[in-house]
Amino acid sequence: MAPAYKRILLKVSGEALAGDNSFGIEPPFLQAIAKQIADVANTGVQIGVVVGGGNIFRGMAGAADGTDRVTADLMGMLGTMINALALSNAISRQGIKSKAFSAVTMPNVADTFTARAAKSALEDGFVVVLGGGIGNPFFTTDTASTLRAIELECDVVLKGTKVDGVYTEDPMKNPDARRYDTVSYDEVIGKNLKVMDTAAFALARDNSMPIIVYALDDPGGLTGVLAGKTRSTLVSA
Ligand code: UDP
Repeated sequence: MAPAYKRILLKVSGEALAGDNSFGIEPPFLQAIAKQIADVANTGVQIGVVVGGGNIFRGMAGAADGTDRVTADLMGMLGTMINALALSNAISRQGIKSKAFSAVTMPNVADTFTARAAKSALEDGFVVVLGGGIGNPFFTTDTASTLRAIELECDVVLKGTKVDGVYTEDPMKNPDARRYDTVSYDEVIGKNLKVMDTAAFALARDNSMPIIVYALDDPGGLTGVLAGKTRSTLVSA
């Protein structure tokens, strides 16, 4: 059966790479994510990945400790590049061609992101791993995921989280919270359901980019989500 999606944008948070730790990259978790990506790439789906950096440095935390916010966010963006290199290399080790791009110019480290170059790599069968967020302070890699999905003409954004979708309230705090199968952008934004930041949802709404929220630790993995076999929430109009 032909895959339902031709091109997807996957958001991998720094937290997912840190596994059971709060800091750094845990090789078994890195490899497990790379394998999930390779399994989907092997079905012919084109994949762009935006990586976070929360396992290394978050600008907000740095700013709270006294570093000026712009500097702290630059540090955060550099952290995402460490993850991008690690993930791109791990995907290559799964036998799938992969190329890392950076939103911040650092030619010795990675190609500078342009939609043109990234699209061409996707069409040539590379998984593209996008680091550096959008390249500006005061943004997050969630917003970068939505933006890149729109720029690269992806069919959908996939956002893995600790829980299996969007809930009426934080299910970690209120066990009576209910999961949505589908929910509108306006409801997510209006009720301030903090799955991604508001800028990410607003950009998705204005450009009709659907977002699927699923549990990172679901045994069906990314393949299950794309096949519609995994519990998840679809955020759309
Ligand atoms: N960041 C930024 N601009 C961007 C994306 C990220 O300044 O476009 C910085 C910001 O400091 C952020 C850090 O990079 O805290 C790591 O990204 P994020 O918090 O989104 O990572 P995640 O939570 O997904 O691991």
